[in-house]
Amino acid sequence: MQRDLLEKQLREYNVELVRAIYVGPDGIARGKAFLPGSIDDVLAHGLGLTQAQASVTVFDHLPPESQFQPVGEVRICPDINTFQVLPYLPGHARMISNLNTIQGDPWELCPRHLLQTFLDRLSERGLVLRAAFENEFTIYRNVNGNWEPLDQTNCFSSAAMDMASPYILPMLSALEQQGVQVEKYYPEAGHGQHEIPIRHQAGMLSADQQVIFKETVRGVALANDFRISFMPKASPDSAGNGCHIHFSLWDKESEQNLFYDPNAAFGLSELALQFTAGVLNHLPAVMAFTAPTTNSYSRFVERCWSSCYASWGPDNREATLRAASGFLGQESATVNVEFKPSDPTCNPYLALSALLCAGLDGIDQGASPGEPVMTDPALLSEAERESRGMRRYPSDLSVSLSALEADSLFQRQFGESRIQDYLTMKRAEIEMINSLEHAAEQTAYLFRF
Ligand code: GLU
Ligand code: MG
Repeated sequence: MQRDLLEKQLREYNVELVRAIYVGPDGIARGKAFLPGSIDDVLAHGLGLTQAQASVTVFDHLPPESQFQPVGEVRICPDINTFQVLPYLPGHARMISNLNTIQGDPWELCPRHLLQTFLDRLSERGLVLRAAFENEFTIYRNVNGNWEPLDQTNCFSSAAMDMASPYILPMLSALEQQGVQVEKYYPEAGHGQHEIPIRHQAGMLSADQQVIFKETVRGVALANDFRISFMPKASPDSAGNGCHIHFSLWDKESEQNLFYDPNAAFGLSELALQFTAGVLNHLPAVMAFTAPTTNSYSRFVERCWSSCYASWGPDNREATLRAASGFLGQESATVNVEFKPSDPTCNPYLALSALLCAGLDGIDQGASPGEPVMTDPALLSEAERESRGMRRYPSDLSVSLSALEADSLFQRQFGESRIQDYLTMKRAEIEMINSLEHAAEQTAYLFRF
């Protein structure tokens, strides 16, 4: 966005406060707000932030053993191209930010910078990532002072659409006003669970739109006296909130979808298969970023549509990677791969970086994902799954973190410092959760993301 256009919007919408937000390694959108009068100063110099914030857990705890302590500073540097007036909060605007060093260079711990380095690597190969995050979330309404899920109806229920309409319509409108293209809407299987799939976007915008999506859905709720939970397993006895990632690689020049091959089985190209194989080969390390909370692992229940076993398959909604069939006559535009073991507590920049790190390795190795799985892996015997290499997902976050620690590809490509920081921070989070009564995990995460 041009500076003069931004000025026009600040005046036209009577903006009184602009927030510069970033998503740190913990996955929470945080930031600092400033008055519009200082916008040039902020764009030129950024806002101050303690380095320690990269090591702070979702519970705002700074582990004493982490490498970043209260001495040392970085800058929150808003990206002018992400400026948006908030349609659901009059007087407010938002910019998404990078974290830079005080010298103005990309900071080694900034998640948005990391994604940029992977996107640049793709670009050197003539490739562009297109991706969409597909969030499920739980709507809570206030019933006599208690927050309760909005409905207890069925998946895709028309009755649930009636009940949720006053909550959903303002969300759809606010998303569209910010350039997030809504593709569909439907109630999901869990109590009060709803889903708004959005259109895929290229590169950084796909991750930025995930931030805008969550900010908007939560913000619309707060402005209208209801609340949203993005917690992976908000109700222990009903379906979890996933955030599947749909992705494909496109040719930069011809703008063709390179995951599509009309002559290949399921229309899925060799490139897509190699990428899929790379993700499967590094799955537990990838999941350290895509299923990043202790609660994430409660979601992986057999026959709950969340997937539980490392596998891939065409239109298989219990596989880790679903090769999504193209729509008739639009195959080239619509063939994509859906990654299931991710949820809305993930940092979208780290999640996409993790997928690219693993997927590009699959391409470099010319890896094969093996035979597709044509049934629900849960219906196979343990011996069958084992013979086909369909491993059960890590049982909890600590297992994924250990896999990440042992994954030399991730150590190299994410950087040892970033991995070390992440492991320390996440292990402190686990310790905190373990110190709570079991039921308290629910309250600790419920409205945090
Ligand atoms: N709620 C399911 C999950 O936890 C996903 C349902 C679906 O959209 O297939 O991932
Ligand atoms: Mg769904």
